Amino acid sequence: MSYLKEVIARTEEKNPSQPEFIQAVEEVLMSLEATVDKHPEFVAASIYDRIVEPDRQLMFRVPWTDDSGKVQVNRGFRIEFNNAIGPYKGGLRFHPSVNLGIIKFLGFEQIFKNALTTLPMGGGKGGSDFDPKGKSDGEVMRFCYSFMRELFRHIGPDTDVPAGDIGVGGREIGYMFGYYKKIKNEHTGVLTGKGIEYGGSLIRPEATGYGAVYFAAEMLATRNDSFENKIVVTSGAGNVAQFAVEKVIELGGKNISFCDSSGTIIDMDGFDTEKLHFVMDLKNNRRGRIKEYVEKYPNAKYYDGKSVWDVVRDEGIKCHIALPSATQNEIDETHAEALIKNGCYCISEGANMPSVPKAVDIYLENKILYGPGKAANAGGVSVSGLEMSQNSLKLSWEREEVDNRLKIIMKNIHEASRNAAEVYGFDKDNYVAGANIAGFLKVAKAMVAYGVV
Ligand code: NDP
Repeated sequence: MSYLKEVIARTEEKNPSQPEFIQAVEEVLMSLEATVDKHPEFVAASIYDRIVEPDRQLMFRVPWTDDSGKVQVNRGFRIEFNNAIGPYKGGLRFHPSVNLGIIKFLGFEQIFKNALTTLPMGGGKGGSDFDPKGKSDGEVMRFCYSFMRELFRHIGPDTDVPAGDIGVGGREIGYMFGYYKKIKNEHTGVLTGKGIEYGGSLIRPEATGYGAVYFAAEMLATRNDSFENKIVVTSGAGNVAQFAVEKVIELGGKNISFCDSSGTIIDMDGFDTEKLHFVMDLKNNRRGRIKEYVEKYPNAKYYDGKSVWDVVRDEGIKCHIALPSATQNEIDETHAEALIKNGCYCISEGANMPSVPKAVDIYLENKILYGPGKAANAGGVSVSGLEMSQNSLKLSWEREEVDNRLKIIMKNIHEASRNAAEVYGFDKDNYVAGANIAGFLKVAKAMVAYGVV
């Protein structure tokens, strides 16, 4: 058994019942074989065993009172995974599916993603099995206060800086930051994704979706191609999906899909700005379901209980570019095969680990352009890093300046991934290997420098 397979086996034994975490560890470590030979100092310092073990795992009780006066209890998590190159940084997810293994997979991925951004940020992630869907603003506020009542003692602008993720948007960040500020009596950049009035950065809401499109545009440019007149399928209808679609419209592409956890809409006419604003209002203000789209735009079709990828497969929908932006493992091997059969040759992942390992194998075998989440969706955390800088400097940069910095960061991540792939003996287009190696090397070298701590 190879050295890294032994590390994976040990990790699996120590972390039973955490399939998503093991999947993420396997995906990263299996790209790192070439680093074992080139860097005996990493083996000598047991870097591979150390990097899969979080610095600290926090689990806590989150009690809150619902509108009927009943006391509810949820579980809170914060995984401070690795701070070798900067304070822990990563989002908070509020979703009923959240458990320790899911937060660990997200925290582990975050280490390499953050290293790729070139900004000084370590990896962390947190959240709760609380479901904000169907809750009143008052209930969400009381939950967020209770969550922060424990989290505040573990975070800080130079220690650990959480942000949003699924189920955590501007409203939730506002409640959590407000409560932190109240109990600490400090107005510091302890969370990112804040409102623009109280320390947020312009372009932060847009950053993950825009970044995934910028990354796709970089990949397409290597083949002298662009978004112009391309049919694009996007999953999700939340923060990442909305702004990915906005940027695709701007670049001349035709986006035809959105989904939520209830079903999918396909609009073969494509979205324009008016249709997109309808979806943004539906999801962000009215907190409605995506099926309402077809009531407003009857030319579109709603597929109840189906994901975008089910519909692409079952209805033979033609497309050129895919932007999965909902959740982990949403694309299985049948979806991957159907995408390629239907003409898709570029996939840029807005979501974290949305493709199962067999789907990734299919992308690589077919040599399509494939940007894995840790590279393609790094725009969000990059602008979070820029928000931290603005908070430290007590400055606020213009929209154009932040967007330009985002574009440069996405270009650099793309370049760094291609270069690392080539140097370590992979095809330049293998962004999976390239992103894993480039992110890992930076963190591993810092860990070696510190000795055994
Ligand atoms: P949001 O909560 O804003 O939106 C998530 C969307 O995906 C919702 O429309 C949701 O539908 C849908 N969705 C969630 N689970 C499923 C499911 N099982 N099947 C179908 N649809 C589903 O989250 P974000 O847009 O912020 O996050 C989306 C993805 O992007 C996640 O993987 C996240 O980790 C990743 N990401 C986000 C970043 C950010 O800056 N926000 C940064 C980097 C990555 P419903 O409302 O019905 O649940």
